[in-house]
Amino acid sequence: MKPIFPAALITLLASQAFTYEREPDRPNLIFVFPDQMRSSMQGFLGEEPVMTPNIDRFAGQGLVLSQAVSNAPVCSPYRAMLMTGMYSMRNGVVTNCTSKAGAYGIQLKEDSRCWSDVLHDRGYNLGYIGKWHLDSPHEPYIVCSNNSGDLKWNEWTPPERRHGFDFWYAYGTYDQHLRPMYWSTAAVRDSFKYIDQWGPEHEADLAIRYIRNEGGKFRDKKKPFALVVSMNPPHMPYEQVPDKYVRMYDSKASEIQAMFSHPAVADTSDRWGKYFRGNIKNQLAMVTGVDEQFGRILEALKRAGMDKNTIVVFTSDHGDCLGKHGMISKSNPYEESMHVPFIIRWTGRIKPGKDDLLFSVPDIYPTLLGLMGYGGDIPAGVEGTNFAGLFTGEPGVSRPTSQLYFMTDAQLYNPPTGEKGLFLRSGERGVRTGRYTLSIMRGPKNKTTTFLWDRKLDPMELNNISYANAEIVKELVERELIPWLKKTGDPWLE
Ligand code: CA
Repeated sequence: MKPIFPAALITLLASQAFTYEREPDRPNLIFVFPDQMRSSMQGFLGEEPVMTPNIDRFAGQGLVLSQAVSNAPVCSPYRAMLMTGMYSMRNGVVTNCTSKAGAYGIQLKEDSRCWSDVLHDRGYNLGYIGKWHLDSPHEPYIVCSNNSGDLKWNEWTPPERRHGFDFWYAYGTYDQHLRPMYWSTAAVRDSFKYIDQWGPEHEADLAIRYIRNEGGKFRDKKKPFALVVSMNPPHMPYEQVPDKYVRMYDSKASEIQAMFSHPAVADTSDRWGKYFRGNIKNQLAMVTGVDEQFGRILEALKRAGMDKNTIVVFTSDHGDCLGKHGMISKSNPYEESMHVPFIIRWTGRIKPGKDDLLFSVPDIYPTLLGLMGYGGDIPAGVEGTNFAGLFTGEPGVSRPTSQLYFMTDAQLYNPPTGEKGLFLRSGERGVRTGRYTLSIMRGPKNKTTTFLWDRKLDPMELNNISYANAEIVKELVERELIPWLKKTGDPWLE
């Protein structure tokens, strides 16, 4: 056996140490997603008079997926797809987690293998801050404002249902932004606490403490970490936003006024026009507030010297029509509802730029694990695609030709036959391609209504051209929709 020369050994060790300093194998992850922020509310796009200086700067540093969508644009279905990498028919969360849905067992399954479970098993510390909304309320219901009506929304998540998150500061659903409530890691079900501070600001405060690992109490400094910050604004109630952000829009009065003449607002009934006009300024202000808090998190990461070794994602669970098209908010296939921000930054590893990839929610899980070096840990049941190679410049990653759209929600509450139950064959199914959005709504007595928008010729989606374009509809159904429904095990086809 040849002896190892000390000089060579020193060189070897030195190069390893240097490699580790420069390019550690195990990146951290920070995943920030406000609730209900449509894509067009990113200032750098120039589509709305919104002020988002931090998101704009971040977009310049990261990869902007300009065509990302929420496939089922409503809270719990998005969140379950995010956590499981499966579409709703397979992960079971086909509608929002509420007291009614709970009767059908609809909530994130305890045995789902989430990406956070994988990272936990790989030695990561995991933190979750903010809205979870993946547990259905059960009796006796938590006494709080979101549980005061017939339908209950808020529930505690017991430790065994946290999917690897060892640091917990969260709630199920609670829409009081100026006085939010949280359960901390060790809190039991009846020991939540209220906070007199705007939710996103409080959550950013906590995220910053987590990043700094204040007092060594938040995480093990020897471990990499993944932190999720799930902010509730710009979700309604829109007026619950600090005045300082609203006042910033006094200077934008004429631009906001100009938004009132958008055909999708002006052509709808007065009720929805009023709704839009009454709320848009506050909603813009909320996004500016979220942007400021996101900026604080990025700054803390930089000051901690971890900005290069941390993958940062900014996205949203769905958008908001805010009365446009006569739609109150989400749960529909319009761009305002379905099209979301998605920006990912990993300095030195992901080339900054823009990509019109038709990215879907279940793709997030495998793509993140792929980027982090755990592509081999992605469970076989994950239905999303690992696009890590596409982001890091590897050849040979094929690009999808459409995104699935589906909504099953209404059927729990208004089943067409009058029966109570879970009706997965009703509701809407469709696809979104680079050019078209197709949605087929199946209502009472199997009657279907088809919507087709050509977003290239009609970006505001004002004209349903489905009846004059039966061939396009047929082709989209046969070439895109049916394969998606088969892939995702959707009984809608039967
Ligand atoms: Ca939501």
